[in-house]
Amino acid sequence: MFCRAGRYFPRPQARPGRPLTVRQCSHTIGAADSAAQSHSAIMREHDLINWICSHELDSSVVVAGPGDDCAVIVLGEEQVLVTVDQLLDGVHFDLARCGGQAAGRKAMARSLSDIAAMAGEATAAVVSLAIPAGCDEGVGKDIYRGLRGLGEQFGCAVAGGDVAVWAGRLAISVTVVGRCAGVKPVLRSGARVGDAICVTGQLGGAWRHQRDLTFRPRLTEARQLAGRCEVHAMIDLSDGLATDLRHMCDASGVGAELQADAIPVHPQSDGLKGALCDGEDYELLFAVSPAEAGAIAAEGLAGTMVSLIGTITEGREIVLADPDGKRGPLKCTGWEHTG
Ligand SMILES: [Mg+2]
Repeated sequence: MFCRAGRYFPRPQARPGRPLTVRQCSHTIGAADSAAQSHSAIMREHDLINWICSHELDSSVVVAGPGDDCAVIVLGEEQVLVTVDQLLDGVHFDLARCGGQAAGRKAMARSLSDIAAMAGEATAAVVSLAIPAGCDEGVGKDIYRGLRGLGEQFGCAVAGGDVAVWAGRLAISVTVVGRCAGVKPVLRSGARVGDAICVTGQLGGAWRHQRDLTFRPRLTEARQLAGRCEVHAMIDLSDGLATDLRHMCDASGVGAELQADAIPVHPQSDGLKGALCDGEDYELLFAVSPAEAGAIAAEGLAGTMVSLIGTITEGREIVLADPDGKRGPLKCTGWEHTG
């Protein structure tokens, strides 16, 4: 599996027609960003990822991984979830602004969110820190406190890791191992025509209002959901509703129709556009039978609101329908990290 910023990329030959999943940071910050962008332009991430993914995966123990939120690996009798996410100062957070503890918390939260997207249970994490030379020791301790503090809330111990000092800015990489614990991992690829599309929480404005630093990964909600019905497909919203719905639809070979007036727009969002296109919500988007969706939306999950926002359709188009009946293709580039 290969990823950038914690996303796993499908190998095209393993599933023809599946798109490559590329996460790019839109919220570039400060001087490091121009360097990051020029580096990105030279390297051409998509091409590199395509090249990496073009290599055949020769493993009998990897059941799923390419193109999903976690890899699923068979160890003995058990299927194990593994995810890794990399956060960079100046790209995914601003250390000078948020401090080490919030940065560490976000790093753990993002990996836990990927475990949630598979309806798994987090068990343990290992962490790699690249710390700037001259960085105050207290910052490193704060990062650990942030990582550990959130992990403990979900039974995910920080089991080890690696620390290096270098001339660059802070980088935090968190690998989390999860258990399926009686629930078949929910992939992105199982959405069926006629399924209801649901989403937890409210969307939009998360980065601008720093909710990306405080969000609570939807692990409990995902387990409750998977315990009450068959979840056909699920993804966590890191790149924005429009983009991540596209990921799910492409993986499943289906289209979708969203009802504009059903989208849960966060009060901090710049309206419907923000709810559709902003990233960093880390809510769960899932497809279930319409027979189940009504009750789930009415009752919520673990105290979190759930909205029924659309339907999985034939074809590959994603359509947005206005309350007045106007329908049109959903055009949104999602959370582009190129600034
Ligand atoms: Mg994810």
